[in-house]
Amino acid sequence: MVHGAHWQRRRWRRIFRQEVAGVARYIGNHPVLAGLAGTLVAVAMAGLTLLTLLNGRTDALDHARETSQNLVAIMSSDLERNVEIYDLSLQAMVDGVEHHLNAGLPLDVQRAVLFDRATTAAYLGGAYIVDANGAVILSQQGEFNPDVRFADRDYFLVHQRHAAAGLYMSHPFRSRLRDGKFSIGLTRRITNADGSFGGVALLAIRIDYFQRLLDRITVGKSSSVFVAMTDGTVIARKPHSASDIGMNISRSPIFVEMAAHSDGSYVATSPVDGVVRMYTYAHVPGTPLIAAVAPAIDDALEPWRQRAVLNGVLTLTFGAVFIVVSWLLAFALRDRQRAQAALMRLAATDALTGLSNRRVLDRRLDEEWRRARRSGKPLSALFIDIDHFKHFNDTYGHASGDEALSAVAECISTMVRRTVDVVARYGGEEFAVLLPETNAEGAFAVAEKIRRAVQAQDILHGGDGGVAVTVSVGCATCVPAQGANALDLLADADRQLYAAKAAGRNRVAPAQTADRSMAQNSPS
Ligand code: GH3
Ligand code: MG
Ligand code: MG
Repeated sequence: MVHGAHWQRRRWRRIFRQEVAGVARYIGNHPVLAGLAGTLVAVAMAGLTLLTLLNGRTDALDHARETSQNLVAIMSSDLERNVEIYDLSLQAMVDGVEHHLNAGLPLDVQRAVLFDRATTAAYLGGAYIVDANGAVILSQQGEFNPDVRFADRDYFLVHQRHAAAGLYMSHPFRSRLRDGKFSIGLTRRITNADGSFGGVALLAIRIDYFQRLLDRITVGKSSSVFVAMTDGTVIARKPHSASDIGMNISRSPIFVEMAAHSDGSYVATSPVDGVVRMYTYAHVPGTPLIAAVAPAIDDALEPWRQRAVLNGVLTLTFGAVFIVVSWLLAFALRDRQRAQAALMRLAATDALTGLSNRRVLDRRLDEEWRRARRSGKPLSALFIDIDHFKHFNDTYGHASGDEALSAVAECISTMVRRTVDVVARYGGEEFAVLLPETNAEGAFAVAEKIRRAVQAQDILHGGDGGVAVTVSVGCATCVPAQGANALDLLADADRQLYAAKAAGRNRVAPAQTADRSMAQNSPS
């Protein structure tokens, strides 16, 4: 079992190695592929990085939203709790006036009855009981200007007109009793025993309370935090600007959405400074307040942007280098491939005649032999030898002999036209021709064509009265049988060549199998 697994592993390893080698060979043969593959990989990597960066941007925005939501929740609960506490004091004040207050008691006793400890809290501007005419009748601090009237204040009018107004939060106002300090009023109605309007209990809360709440929050340089009333009145804002307090933003497109929903988050461009911010807000339960945190998108994305630029530049640089290296490799591969091809061409050709050499002939003979054996079609071979070439050399010199050889080679090539045919220099002044799927008659016809063509080009030395160069050709044809040898075919052709020489040269000896008689070809 263990043994089996071992062999299995070896088998897979061998297959893997073969595959790798195959791919390597394939790329070696297609250099452009190496460049393209490199480019593709670099582009894919860059794409992946880009995708990661984009995800990072979304994450950064999500994170900013979460942080904002948390801040809004904290602000909201702080506001809610404080208003609740103030309301308890207010209720105690109303209760005291309606049920326990005896106007006959000394003023400090009345104050002790009405104003509990909560009314001494920080940011509390003052606690007052206002009568039905708007005049202050009691103050927590004790001293007050008896001529000041509050009958025109919004909270006074609301309670005067609506018995069921409950807890009311006023718009910011400048205090008439405390040097014009910006405050908002928290009020409840005082109802007389007969149900008529008896005045209001008032807690004035310094606007600083809201401003201090916001000051504890750290925001980016273009970000903002604010508390506004549901009707669009700004109570406090960071970054702080005194002119913002009491300003109405109900017409701002940014505020419309806040007023419409109890909480939410959206991205919008500020109509004031043109900065794009993510507005996250929530209505504070039990109050007419909205708490909002609005980090500038630029602030929220700043850390991400720095990282993205660095990563982007690095990715692009490495990608570009990778692509350049891939293509350099591709070009180097191509050059090598070309050199190799040239070398192979050189190794396959005969230098003098440009024909295939002996090695190619042997290989092609083997291939064609096997093909013929499979297909059952005849294969023919011609053996060609120049007549009396020694004499030619002796007469005209070796240089002319070489020229004549080249001319004869050229002549044979032009006569043998099919692409599957093979024309090779066998050695010296001998040539071999392979004619696949050609029977004896066809082979003889080609041979005869060659012989005539060589004879016809007596241009060689026609001018000086010499004898024209001629060739003798031996033909052989066979349908390769199982067990037979390809070399026998060439041997047969060679034998026929000798027969042709013996019969007087400048003639073709047809294949023995087809026709044993010698074709008599006298020079024309
Ligand atoms: P035949 O074939 O008609 O019997 O007579 P031949 O004179 O051609 O005889 P053989 O085939 O024996 O002679 C071969 C001669 O071919 C020898 C040499 O002078 C010449 N030869 C062989 N190779 C080359 C070559 O590359 N260049 C030149 N110039 N001559 C060659
Ligand atoms: Mg010869
Ligand atoms: Mg010879």
